[in-house]
Amino acid sequence: MYQGREAVSGPVAEICERIWLSIAEKRLRPGAHLKEEELSEIFDLSRARVRQALSLLESDGLVTILPNRGAFVAQPTIEEARDVFLFRKQLEARVIERVVERITEDGIRQLEAHLAEERAAHDRGDTSAAVQLAGGFHLVLADLAGSDFLASMVRILVSRSTLITSMYRVRHLNNCAPEDHEGLINAIRARAPGPAQAAMREHIDHVEAELDLGEATPVARDLRQALG
Ligand SMILES: [Zn+2]
Repeated sequence: MYQGREAVSGPVAEICERIWLSIAEKRLRPGAHLKEEELSEIFDLSRARVRQALSLLESDGLVTILPNRGAFVAQPTIEEARDVFLFRKQLEARVIERVVERITEDGIRQLEAHLAEERAAHDRGDTSAAVQLAGGFHLVLADLAGSDFLASMVRILVSRSTLITSMYRVRHLNNCAPEDHEGLINAIRARAPGPAQAAMREHIDHVEAELDLGEATPVARDLRQALG
């Protein structure tokens, strides 16, 4: 599910979701031109609806809209990529600290159930589901922190991380290992804030270490094919 900052539903949400997923699955590359007219044909929706979706994606940093030129999949720079991970480390260390303070047995079961879904997606080689569930784990954690502010910040950064990993990731598609998430759950279950924060920082370091922040090779592909 597309995890943008603003809750949307209906056809606009579907466009956001399809574009987001195509980015996550590397079918739509950073810099690709998102032509309004073509999107409107592909989704059989008015250009006004398409514009609305593109503007939502822009507010989440996934799309860049240039006056008189149109919308493009955003191209985060290496510097921005590093900043996003630096910020995620600070932010999510705070998130997990709050989760440790207030977690209930129900909350732990929720995290375990989510992890089981991640593993299942991994095992059956469903990369599209695995990517969504991996990002989703961080959003579940953020919701359990009981702060709308923290949750909305995590949403923005997880979306942006998806774009960054799609652009700079060298190997597998999925950017979060289920074993790492299991380690985070264990630290939460032990209700030890220090080790939980350390485990989170380490996890985000792992994700960042999988990226090649030395070079970028953006390739634009056919829009219809990418969204197919
Ligand atoms: Zn993760």
